[in-house]
Amino acid sequence: MNNELLEKVCNIPGIPGFEDPIQEFVMGILKPNCDEAYRDRMGNVIGLKKARKQDNNQEPLRVILAAHADEIGMMVKHIDGDGFIRFAPVGGLNPQAIVSQRVIIHGRKSVNGVIVPTSGDRTPALKDMLIDTGLPGDEVRKLIEVGDVITFAQELVYLNEKVYMSRNFDDRLGTYCMLEAVKNLGETCVDVYAVSTVQEEKGVRGMPIAAFAIKPDMGIAIDGSPTWGAHVSKVDNICAMGQGTGIYLMDGLTIGDRRLVKFLFDLCEKYDIPYQRNIGGGTDASAIQRTGIGALATTIGAPTRYMHSTVQLAHGDDIEATVKLLVKFLENAHELGVLVR
Ligand SMILES: [Zn+2]
Repeated sequence: MNNELLEKVCNIPGIPGFEDPIQEFVMGILKPNCDEAYRDRMGNVIGLKKARKQDNNQEPLRVILAAHADEIGMMVKHIDGDGFIRFAPVGGLNPQAIVSQRVIIHGRKSVNGVIVPTSGDRTPALKDMLIDTGLPGDEVRKLIEVGDVITFAQELVYLNEKVYMSRNFDDRLGTYCMLEAVKNLGETCVDVYAVSTVQEEKGVRGMPIAAFAIKPDMGIAIDGSPTWGAHVSKVDNICAMGQGTGIYLMDGLTIGDRRLVKFLFDLCEKYDIPYQRNIGGGTDASAIQRTGIGALATTIGAPTRYMHSTVQLAHGDDIEATVKLLVKFLENAHELGVLVR
C-alpha cells in the first residue's frame, strides 16, 4: 500500500462540479506517468499511456480505466440573520449519517462548522438541519456566500493495521487504484486511457463526454463495491470486506459484459488475486458501455462499507487486489480483440 498517496487522494476536497483541487492533484500524477494528460471541457482528466508492444500487427485497442473524482457534499443555500447556514445536498446524502459531522465551508477562506438538527426529531430530514460555524452572523456573511461549496472534514484514519476509514472511499479508492495501476503498469499492447471523471454522483454526467471522445473498445470503472455491514444484510450487499476485489456482474445502470467478467474471473484465478462477485448500485461503466458503437464494460472495486456516509471502511488487502487486477487486465486486454474487431 502506498499510504502517502492514499492519504493525499482522500483528503483533498472535490464535490460534483467543483472537482478542481482533486483533479489538479490527479493531473500531477498522470502527467509524468503517461504519454499525455489533458483536461476536457467537462472537467474530466484523461491520461493516455500508449501501447508499446504490437499484437499481430493490429492497431492497438483503446481501453478506459475510469474513477470518479467527485465526492458527495453540499452547497450553501441560505444564510440567516444569526449566521446559521442552510445547505443543498450535492450527490446522494444520507441524512442519518451527517448529523453532528464537522464540515468545511470553502468560502472566501475555509470556515469550520458542524451540522446540527433544527428540531428534536430523532431522524431529521436534510431540510431540518443547518450548519453552525460558531461565528457571529455578520462575520459569516463576510466570509461565505450562497453557492459556496461544503465538504466533510473527516480525513483518512487508520482504524487498525488493515482497515482504513475515509469520508470518500466512494470513489477516492477508485482514484487511488487507478493511479497506482498506471504507475505500476508494464508495456501493453493496448492504448490505456486513465480517466478521472467528474459529476458521477449527480448521475454519471462526466464519463459520457470522455467516452464519446475516446471511442473505447472496452473499459473498467473502478468504484466501491457495496458491502454488508452493521445495518446492511449479507442478502442486500453480497460483498464482504477483506475477501478480495468485487467484480460487478450487474448494477442499476449496467449489466457487466459477461465475456469481460469471465475474462476478469480467469485473470484472478491465473494470478491468484482474491475476488468476489458483486451486484452494485450504478457507475461510470454505464457510459463506457453505451458510447459510440458500444464497448465491453463492467466495474471492479474494493468492498466498501457504509458508502455515502462519512465513515466508509475498506480493507488494505482488497485495495491491493484491485490494483493487481487492473494491471493484469491491461497487460492482457489485447486478448479480447477477437470480440471487438
Ligand atoms: Zn461511486
